[in-house]
Amino acid sequence: MSTPSSFGTHHEQVVFCHDEASGLRAIIALYSTALGPGLGGTRFFPYASESDALADVLNLSQGMAYKNALAGLDLGGGKAVIIGDPRTDKSEALLRAYGRFVQTLAGRYFTACDVGTFSTDMDVIARECDYVTGRTVEHGGAGDSSVLTAFGVYQGMRASAQFTWGDTSLAGKRVGIAGVGKVGRHLTAHLVQEDARVVVTDIDPAAVARLVEQYPGLEVAGSTEELIAADLDVYAPCALGGALNETSVESLTARVVAGAANNQLAHDGVGKLVADRGIVYAPDYCVNSGGVIQVADELDPSGFSFDRAKARATGIFDTTLAVLERAASEGITTAEAADRQAEQRIREIGRLAQIRLP
Ligand code: NAD
Repeated sequence: MSTPSSFGTHHEQVVFCHDEASGLRAIIALYSTALGPGLGGTRFFPYASESDALADVLNLSQGMAYKNALAGLDLGGGKAVIIGDPRTDKSEALLRAYGRFVQTLAGRYFTACDVGTFSTDMDVIARECDYVTGRTVEHGGAGDSSVLTAFGVYQGMRASAQFTWGDTSLAGKRVGIAGVGKVGRHLTAHLVQEDARVVVTDIDPAAVARLVEQYPGLEVAGSTEELIAADLDVYAPCALGGALNETSVESLTARVVAGAANNQLAHDGVGKLVADRGIVYAPDYCVNSGGVIQVADELDPSGFSFDRAKARATGIFDTTLAVLERAASEGITTAEAADRQAEQRIREIGRLAQIRLP
């Protein structure tokens, strides 16, 4: 994916939303609606400047277009940011004002949760707007999307094991998880169940303590640096972006990297470094699409079905394997292979809308 300029790369539409009384300052970006309405979450974050917020939303909306395309969804890429501190600036009026702006896009953009927004916020936004996913289960929503995000990462990890060791099994493999928040916790459960040897780390000692109480056999590393230098088969970054950089790749012992965190490569060049070291990197947006698959299922006319969404997220196994094989056969990095696969689907399926219907 190319890096967007301040005017976006090829974004279709960028909308600035302002409601002075409630303090709402938001930007909604639609990268592409070639495959369907843009779906992506609303990030509520205290950006230092409007230009930081704009850069983030342009980047994130492009990322969603690629993620949704690769996940096989009939959805384009969109994202929104609300500028402010969610702990102090979030109010019913602000969220509802935001909902009215989303409504003005008349279904070109569907929103969902992201950093700083929760299912209960989506319920509030939905009081003004028909284009909301990620609502609470009580409101017909899919609830916490980290459940299928973790399941999808697990499928991507199994596919990477198949590609690397010729066997999907993770039993006996030493898997290091950095960040045991919502996704990391569920991922640990899948791996423990499969008898993998799991090592965890988190900057929040309480998150680690909770998990160790649940699974006394877990090993704990003192820091992410210590974790990646340990003798691992698989490394699963499940905290923040930029987990793979020159330094971390250099000290990494794992043969496979597959985790939930977005934007794991600190910059495009890291994909090549990883490949040169013989490490199989399962691209982040390929393996972490279980969450968007979960919330997208709310758009089915029959209403949300967890089983249907889970069946679809199982497909992350095949998609990951196809991406890894494409990288090998075309002599490109796995990140490039994922981008090509996504771009191909946007082109081939997006084109169909040109066939005029009566
Ligand atoms: P979370 O906030 O619940 O958990 C993140 C955890 O990482 C926290 O426990 C935090 O203390 C820990 N952490 C932060 N910095 C760390 C560091 N430097 N070293 C070790 N641990 C650190 O978030 P989450 O919902 O579990 O998401 C994890 C990642 O997956 C994020 O990058 C998120 O963008 C991505 N993701 C999440 C979903 C989802 O459905 N929740 C979907 C797609 C992608």
